[in-house]
Amino acid sequence: MCTTCGCGTETITLDGKVLPLSHAGHPYSTPKKLTRRVQIEQDVLGENDAQAALNRQRFAAQGLLVLNLVSSPGSGKTTLLVKTIERLSARQRIGVIEGDQQTSRDAERIQATGALAVQINTGKGCHLDARMVAGALDTLPLDALDILMIENVGNLVCPAAFDLGEACKVAILSVTEGEDKPLKYPDMFRAARLMLLNKCDLLPHLEFDVAQAMAHARRVNPDIEIMQISATSGVGFEQWLDWLEQARAARRAGQAA
Ligand code: MG
Ligand code: ZN
Repeated sequence: MCTTCGCGTETITLDGKVLPLSHAGHPYSTPKKLTRRVQIEQDVLGENDAQAALNRQRFAAQGLLVLNLVSSPGSGKTTLLVKTIERLSARQRIGVIEGDQQTSRDAERIQATGALAVQINTGKGCHLDARMVAGALDTLPLDALDILMIENVGNLVCPAAFDLGEACKVAILSVTEGEDKPLKYPDMFRAARLMLLNKCDLLPHLEFDVAQAMAHARRVNPDIEIMQISATSGVGFEQWLDWLEQARAARRAGQAA
């Protein structure tokens, strides 16, 4: 227990050394404040989970496959969606909810494909929550969709904690990032069912170690599925499209059952 304020936090890791929190300096002045902060976080997540359960019921009633796409900014999520829609739109009706702090640029890119897209701007917020998604659902004809893609705000931290009611999270890691991202942000890679290793067409120009990146992801999540793709060149795309169609078919079968 922290000897400065008596809160439940015990240690902090600095430069790999685990120190008693009191030695590292404590950001909170009183134990009361810290208890209150933890309580608020629990309340926020509890409320979110309740709304996510309602969203999930709504998706199930429609037999809709809903995916929550999470990544750092710049991993290529929107390009991935555009290419996926172009390749799949003859067989699957895809709608998109776009999350960004500002602008509707990504929704406009999706709409240019002819697909339905709605933009959520989170302002100062760094993640989508289930209530924001519920608001966006009211503007989409869910019964006219087979797959709903939710592109979360580019952020590998808190989107891991916020359930939106999705069937699963898909994490996108691009090879222009570090191989160690799964180790640095383990919650996100643990929360994801599938990791798409994107921009693989650039590998000849980079020193990115694919085997190491995959090993890091499996260290934090032994069950994670991994695909090497490039949204721009189309490498590995068949595998991703097959995965989507199978997930959609499983969803439809679940609805019929
Ligand atoms: Mg985007
Ligand atoms: Zn956040």
